[in-house]
Amino acid sequence: MAETLYYRTASDLNRELESKRISSEEIVRAVIDRTRAVDEKVCAFISFDEDDAIAQAKASDARRARGEALGPLDGIPVGIKDIMAVKGQPLTCASRMLGKFVSPYDATSIRKLKDAGAVVWGRLNMDEFAMGSSTENSSVKTTANPWNTECIPGGSSGGSAACVAAGEAPLSLGSDTGGSIRQPAALCGVVGMKPTYGLVSRYGLVAFASSLDQIGPFAHTVEDAALLLQTIAGHDRFDSTSFKTDIPDYRTELQRKRGPWKLGIPREYFGEGLDPEVEKAVRAAIEFYRKEGCEIVDVSLPHSDYAVGVYYIIATAEASSNLARYDGVRYTHRSTDVKDAIDLYFKTRAEGFGPEVKRRVILGTYVLSSGYYDAYYLKAQKVRTLIRGDFLNAYEEVDALITPTTPAPAFRRGEKVDDPLQMYLSDIYTISANLAGIPGISIPCGFSGGGLPIGLQILGQPFKEADLFAIARKFEQAHDHHTRHPAL
Ligand code: GLN
Repeated sequence: MAETLYYRTASDLNRELESKRISSEEIVRAVIDRTRAVDEKVCAFISFDEDDAIAQAKASDARRARGEALGPLDGIPVGIKDIMAVKGQPLTCASRMLGKFVSPYDATSIRKLKDAGAVVWGRLNMDEFAMGSSTENSSVKTTANPWNTECIPGGSSGGSAACVAAGEAPLSLGSDTGGSIRQPAALCGVVGMKPTYGLVSRYGLVAFASSLDQIGPFAHTVEDAALLLQTIAGHDRFDSTSFKTDIPDYRTELQRKRGPWKLGIPREYFGEGLDPEVEKAVRAAIEFYRKEGCEIVDVSLPHSDYAVGVYYIIATAEASSNLARYDGVRYTHRSTDVKDAIDLYFKTRAEGFGPEVKRRVILGTYVLSSGYYDAYYLKAQKVRTLIRGDFLNAYEEVDALITPTTPAPAFRRGEKVDDPLQMYLSDIYTISANLAGIPGISIPCGFSGGGLPIGLQILGQPFKEADLFAIARKFEQAHDHHTRHPAL
């Protein structure tokens, strides 16, 4: 059993812990050994602290021995994207700008994980400040796709997806501003979900584009993703955009008989640029739902064509404002040899930010500048409202939408680094959900001829995560893609 402990699901590990067949320390040691064995190839982690993880595991085992286990995640390791604050741990956002910054407090999601007894495990690689789709914009290292280390794992939460796919953690957290959970989940063959905007507190998540950012889970199965979301969801007085809403018990909801559903197939998601192998796998999934008794209807989201353009105006505008705080005064990187305060700002930012971050700050400053604001930013906000309207219209008729998560399987490392527009198109199917604020999940639905995973995206109604999990699980239960693991 020990060899495969690191590939067990969290739900399964929890059952073993409850029946006292294994300890949290054994799980954590298995994960550490696995990480030591494969992370030189995968490069999912920026850093990790083995002693700290073992200490957390021992505390969990002691709690359990006293009969005081805190819940289903007690003793289970969860990897953390290096964009979320964990008190006393480094937080880099894969940027030189944050240098040796150490978080003075816990993000709300992290506090909730700790309250649930989870073992907070490592700092996962990402594109710098979550800007990118391949993890190649990290200033630290590039993460490899565990299924083919010549390929990218997706991004920006590439480390979070790759670590679960490679067995370096059964669960992880990422953040999704335009697809950064769903896209890498699809490319690495794991489950990844972006909750409704406002379901999970953003407190302690380093801001990229505040009206789009959401934290969400990565896991091997839908049930595990539901378990992790359950733990982090809920209103938080430290985030005024977090929503006061009753959170259902997602796992209990999963046990209930649900469906059949009415599922919409947005025709704009099956056009030019969609890889034939991806289309085939997704169409097969749609056929599966039809055979299960779901009503399948064609729908249109007519403003889809504008989503990427609108996103790169709104996200960059918000980023240019959010990243203004890195001025050499308040955070750790500070240029030396400067003449005056202005020189300090210029040099610090020139040295601290990588090329993609600079591109976004310049774009964002431009679209907000006087004379261009109305033409770009204001216009983009109006189109954003139309995009949200498309979804709300569709949801008058259907329960959820089925689409591919990405236009193609993972591409090769280096292939798109010099072509930002091609890179931006990786998120063509995921971006709209962030603009509309709706939830989305990506689950494995097949493999390409080259052995790379393919993801199925299900988009749901606001705050109907329970439906999304149920629809996704229906497919998962009848297929075995999620049980396959890369040969590393
Ligand atoms: N790839 C998109 C971008 O570069 C989305 C990133 C994200 O969701 N954080 O902005």
